[in-house]
Order: sequence, then structure tokens, then C-alpha cells
Amino acid sequence: MIVGLTGGIGSGKSTVARFFMDLGVPVYDSDSEAKRLMNTSKHLRKRIVSLFGEQAYHGQTLNKKYLASVVFADDEQLDKLNAIVHPAVRSHFEAWAKKQQFAYVIQETALIFENNAQERYDAVILVVSPLETRIKRVMERDGVQKEMVLERMSHQLLDAEKMPLANFVITNTDLEITKKTVLEIHAQLLKFSHKI
Ligand code: ATP
Repeated sequence: MIVGLTGGIGSGKSTVARFFMDLGVPVYDSDSEAKRLMNTSKHLRKRIVSLFGEQAYHGQTLNKKYLASVVFADDEQLDKLNAIVHPAVRSHFEAWAKKQQFAYVIQETALIFENNAQERYDAVILVVSPLETRIKRVMERDGVQKEMVLERMSHQLLDAEKMPLANFVITNTDLEITKKTVLEIHAQLLKFSHKI
């Protein structure tokens, strides 16, 4: 059974993912796997270089700063990068999921509803938090300006738009409550996994 875990920037996806991992659930972090694949896959590298030039890499390593400066300034370039990276992550995830031995696996991905990808999952968990809290968290975590956070958010749907589409919603403000909600969802997913 495949469960998607999503939420806007700074909502607390990775925090929630860690709580599931503590319960033994296999979690695939799409963002970090995408970065890893961009560094390790020869096929991806070739395609990225053909689109963005040799300066997209420093030797063997992805030049994240350069690539970010290009794609975050131009939506068309971001779409082109995603069109290369997303299918690679998807097939890597599918191969990984087949190898897992748990009742269900979680794929943590920032954009599920934005990409209309919810059909790929047996259930989707959405993490939400108040907007101001999210902005503050990301500014503190990444040491970035508010404008940068708002720019990233502009590519994402609002929580209110995503909530009716999700099977489970976690309101992540108080960590103890979040942990308790994770336990409840985990119990339901285990029950559900026996039925399919
Ligand atoms: P991104 O989309 O940027 O990857 P995310 O949704 O995965 O973000 P996290 O990295 O889990 O979010 O959380 C953002 C920051 O807020 C982290 O520094 C995390 O420790 C902190 N944080 C998350 N949830 C809470 C909470 N309930 N209370 C206090 N701090 C929190």
C-alpha cells in the first residue's frame, strides 16, 4: 500500500515523516532522493547538462546554487527540470517500494495535489500549519528572507484548497498532538492495509 505525505513548505512534512519512521514505517523522501539522483545518475546528469549547460555541475557535484538561481527565476525552466527529474524519482521510488516489507510505505513529496498525482496513492496525508508559523519556521531553519519563502509558496496550492482532497489532515502546531495524530493514522492505515 502506497501512502503519500504532502504539505506546503515549512508545514512539517519531514517532522511528521520522522514520527512515522519511529513506528517502523519505510519513508521515501522524494526531495533528498531527487538531489541524490541528480548527483549519481549519469543519465540525469547528461540531460541536465544538455538543458542548463556544464555550469550545472561542479565536477561530479550538482551546482545547486546555480541551478536554483535559474529555475526559481523562471517557471518554464523549473518545469523543464521537473520534467527530467520527476520521472527518474518516480521509477526509483517504485523500485524501492517493491523491496519494502511493511504493510505500507510513505512517499514524502511537497507537490502531490499541485501535480494532480493523488491517483498514484492509496491514501494521502496532508500536513497543515498556519501560514505565518510556516514562514517563521523556514526563515529560522534555512536562514532565508521572507520573500524567498513566499516565492516558494507561490508554486503551491493553499492549505484550504488541498484539505478537501486529502484522506488525512494533520494540523502540526503542537508536536505532542501531531505525534498522537500520527499514531491514530498509523492504526487506521494498518487496518486498511489488511483489507486491500
Ligand atoms: P520543507 O517543505 O521546507 O521541506 P517541511 O514541511 O518538511 O519543510 P519541516 O522541515 O518538518 O517542514 O519543519 C520546518 C521547521 O519547523 C523545522 O526546523 C522543524 O524542526 C520545525 N517544526 C516543524 N513542526 C514543528 C512544530 N510543531 N513545532 C515547532 N517547530 C516545528
